Amino acid sequence: MTHKLMMTALLAGSFFMAQAQQKAKPEDTEVWDPAPKVVTPGQVQIAAPSDAVILFDGKNLDKWVMTEDRSKPAQWTVADGVMTVNKKTGNIETKDAFNDYQLHIEWRIPANITGEGQARGNSGIFLASIGKGDDGYELQVLDAYNNKTYVNGMAGSIYKQFVPLANPAKKPGEWQSYDVFWKAPTFNEDGSVKTPARVTVLFNGVLVENNVELLGPTQYIGKPSYKKAHGASPIKLQAHGDKSEPISFRNIWIRPL
Ligand code: MG
Repeated sequence: MTHKLMMTALLAGSFFMAQAQQKAKPEDTEVWDPAPKVVTPGQVQIAAPSDAVILFDGKNLDKWVMTEDRSKPAQWTVADGVMTVNKKTGNIETKDAFNDYQLHIEWRIPANITGEGQARGNSGIFLASIGKGDDGYELQVLDAYNNKTYVNGMAGSIYKQFVPLANPAKKPGEWQSYDVFWKAPTFNEDGSVKTPARVTVLFNGVLVENNVELLGPTQYIGKPSYKKAHGASPIKLQAHGDKSEPISFRNIWIRPL
């Protein structure tokens, strides 16, 4: 190959690489196989221990605010001891901020759920909310009972980072739980990451994430990385924009560590 040809080839190569980067798609970071094995779970409900901070006890949303405007009280529905997502109002998050913690949260996909894949009971728990919208580290909430989707986006996944080790999902209409053990990331003075976030998750009492080291906050398109330093952060619940019936939460408590 002549020098000129080689230069042309190199230029063409970098041009196509730049094109590829510009056209990065959500599908690029989906993983579909293999599917985690299905496990029938046991008991899912755990009453709060004496030293827990109660984030939701079925009565009100006093501990929660709107993510888009933290001066506004959370505008989701509370009835019959459960809170239900109001998709029109948006994400909610805790008033308080947390570093390392143990969190228990129960959720229910409605029995009459419709839709498929990511549009079937999608919500999420952002283990640290680091900004508006979906900024943060998402533990996915989704119907995973005979609902095919990419496995790094199914219930129990750290969205688009870690596939759950098993699928212990219950049927729509039944209550399910997450128990989360969160080690917040720490940062150097220059803003670079010092120690990445780590998380262990039990889904309906079954280990699905085993002390995994997060690559950064959740990213819908492209590869995640730590881009900005942050301190203690709220816990955020997602009002996902899909058309399926809204899901509910109950019995949310946390033990800051
Ligand atoms: Mg979600």
